[in-house]
Amino acid sequence: MDLPLRVAVVGAGPAGFYATEALLKQRDDALVDVIDRLPAPFGLVRYGVAPDHLKIKAVTRVFERLLDDPRVRFLGGVEVGRELTADDLARHYHATVLAYGAAGDRRLGIPGEDLAGSLSATDFVGWYNGHPDLVDLEPPLDGPWAFVVGVGNVAVDVARILAKTPAELASSDIATHAAAALERSAVTDIVVLGRRGPAEAKWTTKELREFGELADADVVVDPAELDIMLASKAAIADDPAALRNLDVLADFAARPLAGRRRRVYLRFLRSPVAIEPDASGTRVGSIVIERNRLVERSGGVIGADGTGATERLPASLVLRSVGYRGRGLPGFPFDERRAVIPNERGRVLDEDGAVLPGVYVAGWIKRGPSGVIGTNKPDAVETATCLLEDPVRTIDAEAARPEAVDALLAGRGVTVLDRDGWRRIDAAETAAGEAAGRPRVKFVRREELMDAGR
Ligand code: NAP
Repeated sequence: MDLPLRVAVVGAGPAGFYATEALLKQRDDALVDVIDRLPAPFGLVRYGVAPDHLKIKAVTRVFERLLDDPRVRFLGGVEVGRELTADDLARHYHATVLAYGAAGDRRLGIPGEDLAGSLSATDFVGWYNGHPDLVDLEPPLDGPWAFVVGVGNVAVDVARILAKTPAELASSDIATHAAAALERSAVTDIVVLGRRGPAEAKWTTKELREFGELADADVVVDPAELDIMLASKAAIADDPAALRNLDVLADFAARPLAGRRRRVYLRFLRSPVAIEPDASGTRVGSIVIERNRLVERSGGVIGADGTGATERLPASLVLRSVGYRGRGLPGFPFDERRAVIPNERGRVLDEDGAVLPGVYVAGWIKRGPSGVIGTNKPDAVETATCLLEDPVRTIDAEAARPEAVDALLAGRGVTVLDRDGWRRIDAAETAAGEAAGRPRVKFVRREELMDAGR
């Protein structure tokens, strides 16, 4: 009798679940183990999506339904590369789909970037979303000036969370420690810096508009910077989304200040060139910003060059929000330059560019950290289709039994949190949320999650 198709999906985020869905739709006899380093599933939906964007999180219903499927197992709290190696996966599964995302961040490469108070937005996001690795981040919120570098949707998220009142965050699923710290926050002025013009910003209109709906923060766009907008408008004449963004910014620029407690400044053609310490010598005290001008590079790409004109502004918190960056996993190929796993339509390639049998990739670690959650669906379908087109690798029938992986992990002393464990965590979190009038109150520490799942 033929063996069922055993597939390991590494990463329980959107890419992993969409890959699982695509495999199960196309192959009745697939048995998928979704493996995650963390005890709780859903990756970027739980730990990346802003806590006040609850509608986006509703996608977990689709993933929960997949967890209900008897052909799917969740192996939470298992670190691939350490507790389960590439060789183990090759021995126990016909195929592996690496869908573990891009947890690292890109750097600015400027002096002072490692001072206390200069953080990556990705860490700050993980902190307020209760990521077990970032609970103890303690971002300094004791000074008035916060700078956010970058004008993508993550920059919008972190600036908005800094600007919101406790009442606005009360209905979110923000981690309790972060809600308490933000309630005490002395930040009053949040400056978002774009290195190019407003027409080149990466944020989407819906997200940008939310700055105009804050309960106790004014959004500030300097009308004098409107001419920059006009200068770069010609370049986006065929880009309706960018034109809509300019209209929103023009509306913000026309608004008088309403004297609210906080301000969010959206500034353009500005790059930080240094972050300087305060008197302690170890903490962020100021930021030096250079004015840029737009230049047309080859292929019509709009770039920004420094003009040499700088200003120094007081700062106590600097969040670089200049993109996520993928990381390699021991035992698998990795392209350091592009920070992705080299692949062709999801088939992983070795150093010589040859297809590595039985290893596939989906999501951000396949194509880089861009797109919305839904972008991962067609991406995962492409990968699953390639996987199912390829000849099935031969593996030992005994090793292919799900119990063989369980025994291997138990023998190594790894406690696995399964679907029922997650359901217990979920029930406890939502019950605590109900009592507090919130969608859920998250367990944040690994041990708390493991205890609640037992
Ligand atoms: P992103 O959209 O790629 O934006 C990165 C920003 O950083 C850009 O403005 C970029 O400017 C800037 N940047 C890069 N290097 C820089 C440097 N050295 N100095 C100054 N600025 C620099 O990345 P992201 O905001 O991290 O978002 C990642 C993905 O998740 C995106 O696809 C985003 O839409 C998605 N996301 C969606 C939502 C949502 O739907 N609500 C929320 C969060 C994230 P240049 O353009 O000049 O390079």
